[in-house]
Amino acid sequence: MYDYVIVGAGSAGCVLAGRLSEDPDTSVLLLEAGPPDTNQNIHVPLGYLQLARTEVDWDYNSAPEPNCGGRRIGLPRGRVLGGSSSVNAMVYIRGNRRDYDEWGVPGWSWDDLFPYFLKAEDNERGASEWHAVGGPLPVSDQRSGNTISPAFVEAGVEAGLARNEDFNGTEQDGVGMYQVTQRGGMRASAAVSYLHPAMQRPNLTVMPYMLVTRLLFEGTRAVGVEASQLGQLQELRAEREVILCGGAYNSPQLLMLSGIGPAEHLTMREIEVLLDQPAVGENLGDHPATYTVFTTPEPESLLAALEPAAMAEANTDRNSPAKRGRACSIPVSTRPASARSWRITTRAITAPITPSTPSISSR
Ligand SMILES: Cc1cc2nc3c(=O)[nH]c(=O)nc-3n(C[C@H](O)[C@H](O)[C@H](O)COP(=O)(O)OP(=O)(O)OC[C@H]3O[C@@H](n4cnc5c(N)ncnc54)[C@H](O)[C@@H]3O)c2cc1C
Repeated sequence: MYDYVIVGAGSAGCVLAGRLSEDPDTSVLLLEAGPPDTNQNIHVPLGYLQLARTEVDWDYNSAPEPNCGGRRIGLPRGRVLGGSSSVNAMVYIRGNRRDYDEWGVPGWSWDDLFPYFLKAEDNERGASEWHAVGGPLPVSDQRSGNTISPAFVEAGVEAGLARNEDFNGTEQDGVGMYQVTQRGGMRASAAVSYLHPAMQRPNLTVMPYMLVTRLLFEGTRAVGVEASQLGQLQELRAEREVILCGGAYNSPQLLMLSGIGPAEHLTMREIEVLLDQPAVGENLGDHPATYTVFTTPEPESLLAALEPAAMAEANTDRNSPAKRGRACSIPVSTRPASARSWRITTRAITAPITPSTPSISSR
């Protein structure tokens, strides 16, 4: 029996496990379907391009999308300690004030949340009106020596977009270089920042390869979970709380598997209805990303940094190309504050390519 059982060791789960286990009198169990975060491609920033559709990704696809010629669009989601923070693009962006305010949820407005963004942050630019130092989450400028990125920013400015030096400052529109959640050229996932420093605590138990299949209830109170490790089903009980942190896709799925969701949908799948809650599984908001691939005669591509020798170099040389932020991607934010965010990502390659259908991925 544990005080808290946390389902999912992603961004939210790692933060909660780290913070709750600071109290030595509180016992915390953290369950994760995926493996430990030992894959080098997780930690060397450019390696993230190699993580989709591997054992650290749930490998989801959308239903056929009517607005994308009926294609299924890949939906990467981390399945590993750190969750999606172990496979994401490391862009440090907090969202727009109106995103939070329009939720209309007490305690989750921008003014409520802003102090917590500051509390989390350790920004290498130092403290300011918009930033803080000393928190667990490192935020750094990109270290890319690539000349295409600044050239692209200048081209955006020439085209009339506002130059933006800080997407977490007074203005979020414009063109510029993102800051990233990295330290010393390595990914600072939620696992690295919040979980690894807590792993030695005797009151924290972390179980990887543990797929939670159902939440357990006594009446209407969640008292534990049913989980499967290597095909062995077991029950794990919580004295105080079961905390569901399975991410935007898996948390509603797990609620539905546990009988909480739209009654008709559950009944069709012969799941006993505990609570008819039609909103579960609805209203997903996401930001599609389109990739524009083009050639350049200059040998500037960071793709070379993904070669095995370059990745090996990343372990010893803190300035190796593989440690330089995200490939040569440049953010262009052109969203109206109330709309979903759209990101245009460019990737330059030096080898000639055959033109193909532009790909759209949602991250
Ligand atoms: C490819 C990609 C790029 C991204 N780029 C950025 C970016 O640059 N900047 C940014 O701010 N955000 C980015 N994001 C989004 C960001 O990473 C997520 O919003 C954030 O990590 C979500 O945190 P979470 O805790 O809700 O879920 P996750 O971090 O996804 O964690 C959920 C965890 O629960 C586990 N889990 C799920 N179901 C079960 C189960 N049944 N049993 C046990 N464990 C389970 C999962 O394996 C996972 O580890 C990106 C995401 C992706 C996938």
